[in-house]
This record gives sequence, structure tokens and C-alpha cells, in this order.
Amino acid sequence: KTFEELGVSEPIRKAIEELGFEQPMPVQEEVIPYLLGNRNDVIALAQTGTGKTAAFGIPLLQRIDTSSRETQAIVLSPTRELCLQICDDLNEFSKYIPHMHIAAVYGGASIEEQIRSLRHGAQIIAATPGRLIDLMKRGKAKLENVHNVVLDEADEMLNMGFQDSITEILSGVPDDHNTLLFSATMSKQIETVAKGYLHDYKEIVV
Ligand code: AMP
Repeated sequence: KTFEELGVSEPIRKAIEELGFEQPMPVQEEVIPYLLGNRNDVIALAQTGTGKTAAFGIPLLQRIDTSSRETQAIVLSPTRELCLQICDDLNEFSKYIPHMHIAAVYGGASIEEQIRSLRHGAQIIAATPGRLIDLMKRGKAKLENVHNVVLDEADEMLNMGFQDSITEILSGVPDDHNTLLFSATMSKQIETVAKGYLHDYKEIVV
């Protein structure tokens, strides 16, 4: 199948073509049409290198209303490096979508600069959990219009002890949000999280 057949919009197709994506990778072929079909929750077991960032990133971008600058999606990941990588990738994919703003917030860097990046409004925030909570508490990250939550490398986030932080963040987003959980492995802990946070989810293994 082609990206067009999966429902990927013209501006995103143009951008990924320039990145050299010729055809969808297996995780993309499964996840993209599912999420674009307004189906909601997904658990995907996919390692790094399988194309998972585009698998969640493309439908996420297509769900953003760029006429508003309110935060509509958050992508949680365990490390600063991954957070920056996700932000870069989303910026690349959305290069031809006007008025799309993506911010990266993570620990170990100046919070002032990150507050500035949020001040003008970012429709998508890529974040590590601890720093996002800090910004929520300071009233700088407002999540009341977040309808899509991605948990990337969820197994790694749980291993690092972020479960309570994730719960706290999710308690600040509307109840009817969609959750996209990506993990390299399936464990008892992931299963518990899935049962607690996801509804009618589809499980995809690549
Ligand atoms: P990820 O699993 O998201 O870390 O992606 C792994 C690498 O594959 C990244 O460098 C992507 O740019 C690249 N990639 C993702 N999707 C495709 C595709 N459909 N065709 C070619 N390369 C891709």
C-alpha cells in the first residue's frame, strides 16, 4: 500500500517523500489507517527502528486543529534524547502544514526557555513526565484540551519509575482522550497500565 492509500494527507506525503520514505513500514501500515479511521486506543509492540515515530506521529498531526494554538496532544517519552528526536521528527513531517507548533520539554535543561516555547502555544508537546508535571504545576502547560496522548517506550518509562507521574499527567487531561501506547516489550506492568488507561484498544505486534 502507499501512504496515500493509508489516508496520509498531501502536505505530510510531500514532507516524508523528501525524507526518502517510499513506502510504509509494517507498523505504519497497521497503525496509520486504524487511527485515521477515528478508532482510538492502540497498543503497539514495536522496537526502535521500526518506524514507530511516524506510525503515531502522522495520525497525531492529522488530528490537530491548527486554527487553534491550544495544546491538543502530548507525547510522553522516557529521556531527553528521545523527546528531542520526536519533536524533530514531528517538525519534519509537518514541514508543509502551516501554523503547526511543537514544543519539547524535558528535564536537565533550562525551564525558562521551555516556558517561553510554550507561551505562544504549542498544539503538541513532546515531554518527559517529570518536567511536564513541573510545567503543569506552574500553570505553563495546559492540558484541558488534550485529546491524544502517546506513551512512547512505555516499558522504559515504567522501568524508570514514571508510573505515578504518568497517572498524575493523565488525571489532568479530559477523560475522553485517546491513548496510543508504544512499547518494545509486553509485561505484566504494561498490561496493568493498558487495562487502567486504555479502552477497546487494538493490539499491534510488529
Ligand atoms: P523509528 O522507529 O521511529 O525510530 O524510525 C526509524 C528510522 O526509520 C527513522 O530514521 C525514520 O526516519 C525511518 N523511517 C520511518 N518510516 C520510514 C519509511 N516508511 N521509509 C523509510 N524510512 C523510514
